[in-house]
Amino acid sequence: MFENTLKKMNTILKDVVYYTLDIHGEKHNMNSYIGKRIKISWSGSVICNCGKKMNAFYRKSGYCYKCYWESPLASKSIFKPELCTAHLGIEERDLEWEKKFQITPHYVYLANSSGIKVGITRGSQGVIRWMDQGAHQAILLAEVPNRRFSGDIEVSLKPFVADVTNWRKMLSGIPNPVDLIKMKEELSEHVPEKLKKYILPDNTVTEIRYPVIKYPTKIKSIKLENNSIVEGILLGIKGQYLLFDNDRVFNIRSHEGFISEFSIEEAYQGTLF
Ligand SMILES: [Zn+2]
Repeated sequence: MFENTLKKMNTILKDVVYYTLDIHGEKHNMNSYIGKRIKISWSGSVICNCGKKMNAFYRKSGYCYKCYWESPLASKSIFKPELCTAHLGIEERDLEWEKKFQITPHYVYLANSSGIKVGITRGSQGVIRWMDQGAHQAILLAEVPNRRFSGDIEVSLKPFVADVTNWRKMLSGIPNPVDLIKMKEELSEHVPEKLKKYILPDNTVTEIRYPVIKYPTKIKSIKLENNSIVEGILLGIKGQYLLFDNDRVFNIRSHEGFISEFSIEEAYQGTLF
C-alpha cells in the first residue's frame, strides 16, 4: 500500500552519506544520480499511516483527521518530549503504545548542522538522526532510561543552545566547526542534578559529509502541493533534502505519504552549470 509513496531516504554513514530511496519496490542509489536529471510526479493523492487515502493531509500534518486527533503518533509529547508521562503510568492517548515508545533508552546529543543544537533520539537512531538533519559533527551527551528524562535535559539546555535546525542555513553550505567536547563539558553543568548521573563519559565526535557538488545560494523550497511535478538536475543531497539546479531544494521527508512516480533521465546530456 505504501510502496508507491515518497518516504524518507535511508542513509548509511560512509565516506559521504550513502542515500537510497525506496519506491515502487525499487531501491534507488541516490548518490549515483547526482549530476543527472530526475523527476518526481505527484498523483494528487496522499495516504496516511492508517491506510486512508485523500487529496491532502489534515492541517499538512502528515496524518488524516482521525489520526491527527487520536493516534499516539501525533500526540503532543511527540513534539514535546518533556510532556511524556508513560514512565509514571499516565496515559496520553494509548498507554500501551506510549510505554513501548517512551520507556526505552534515549539519548541527548549535541550536533552542528547550522550551528550547534541539542536534540534527542531513541535507542540506536543517533547517527541516522544526525544524517537526517544534515549535521556535520555530533556527540552524545547523555543516555537516559526513558523519553521524558531526555526531554527534561533538552529543556534545561534550551536557554543556552538551539533545539531546531535552521534548514536554510544548513542547506547553504558547511558550518564552521565547533569544539563539541568543550561544549558538552560546558552544557553538562546545566543538566538537572538528578539527571547528571546519565551524562556519558564517552566523547567520541562523529563527523559526517554529504554528497553535494553545489550548494544553493538563494534557496527556493519547492513543494508538490504547489507544483505536482518536480524535475531538474540533482546537484546534491543533504539531510533529507534533494538539492536541484536553480537553487531549488526539495524536502523529501515532508512529502512522506505522497503517492508519486520517480524517474531518472539516464541519457541527459545538458551542461551542469
Ligand atoms: Zn490516518
